[in-house]
Amino acid sequence: MGKPSLDEFRKWLQSEIREIESLEVGPNVDKRLLQLEMALQEAMAFNAAWNIRTEASITPVIQEKAVRLLSPSPEINNDSGPKGICGSCEAEIEDDLPFCPVCGDNR
Ligand SMILES: [Zn+2]
Repeated sequence: MGKPSLDEFRKWLQSEIREIESLEVGPNVDKRLLQLEMALQEAMAFNAAWNIRTEASITPVIQEKAVRLLSPSPEINNDSGPKGICGSCEAEIEDDLPFCPVCGDNR
């Protein structure tokens, strides 16, 4: 299968958004929807930035190791649910996620 492409990531996000939008409205649904929409925007921004750099013959710089988020979201420490730590990048992962949202590592 190989590694998923950016395009597949975008398709996945869009299908997640469609699925979430069919659910009843609630604070958790809103939060998840916002996360997905921000991720989608970020994926498109990354795609645009990458294209600009390659067109200008600049090698896009990719960090070898995932960087810890500098400003964790305010709700990260309020015990909203059980959290795990990613073995690869040490990011906090919600226990219901089968993969690390920061580096994509399977748990
Ligand atoms: Zn990770």
